[in-house]
Amino acid sequence: MGQLSGKTAIITGASRGIGKAIAECFVKEGAKVAFTYVSSEEKAKALEAELGKDGGVIKGFKSDAADYEQSLALIDQVLEAFGSIDVVVNNAGITRDNLLMRMSENDWDEVIMTNLKSVFNMTKAVQRTMLKQRSGSIINMSSVVGVKGNAGQANYAASKAGIIGFSKSIALELGSRNIRCNTVAPGFIETEMTGKLDEKVVQEWRNSIPLKRGGTPEDVAQLCLFLASDNSSYITGQVISVDGGMLT
Ligand code: NAP
Repeated sequence: MGQLSGKTAIITGASRGIGKAIAECFVKEGAKVAFTYVSSEEKAKALEAELGKDGGVIKGFKSDAADYEQSLALIDQVLEAFGSIDVVVNNAGITRDNLLMRMSENDWDEVIMTNLKSVFNMTKAVQRTMLKQRSGSIINMSSVVGVKGNAGQANYAASKAGIIGFSKSIALELGSRNIRCNTVAPGFIETEMTGKLDEKVVQEWRNSIPLKRGGTPEDVAQLCLFLASDNSSYITGQVISVDGGMLT
């Protein structure tokens, strides 16, 4: 039996990268998975087909995590399809990097809406369901950048630091109802998001990491699996790094 048998999970932004690896891992471990995307319709359909073919239960929804009304509608649709929601992974995220001097107001707003407001949207939308169930695990995707800051990413770092404060507060508010809320802080994970970077810069990053490599989406998925499963039933309010020792 899989570690997530009998559980239903929502993962935002799972058409690519880390979210996709989490979806693959959760389906393999027996969860029913609902995932979202905004633009990658074909990739989403391909993921549904690939993970559904051996009896996996997975359904993609086009839903903008930055939009409150769409988040409310998503929860209703998932409840209709699967009947319960035990795990939410708030993974959707974007970057609009620039030094503050060149950062536009739009660069700031888009990143805060997609990365931070989305976490409020989904947590607020799922709260009632989890309160009724008297159980739930909310996993929010921050970043090492949210812990230590990064030149050229003030908007992104602010959104990721905001997620940490939000998650700790929710852990305090909902702990008495057996709803857990933890933050995952990946370091340098090699995905399309980092594929935009210059190869020389990427090599320098790898050399500076104690484990001497970038992380894989699967490295992050394994931590999410632990936080989603009952193996972590006494863990809440934590920020857990998966970064090859970067923050050490
Ligand atoms: P990615 O490869 O760029 O994938 C981003 C995913 O988010 C895509 O599935 C995308 O959907 C979805 N998405 C973007 N905006 C959305 C929205 N408004 N509503 C719903 N879905 C949306 O990114 P990644 O590298 O896997 O990163 C995933 C998360 O980990 C992000 O929160 C990121 O900040 C965080 N993180 C990444 C790293 C890293 O090194 N890669 C490090 C630390 C933290 P579409 O395909 O439809 O656009």
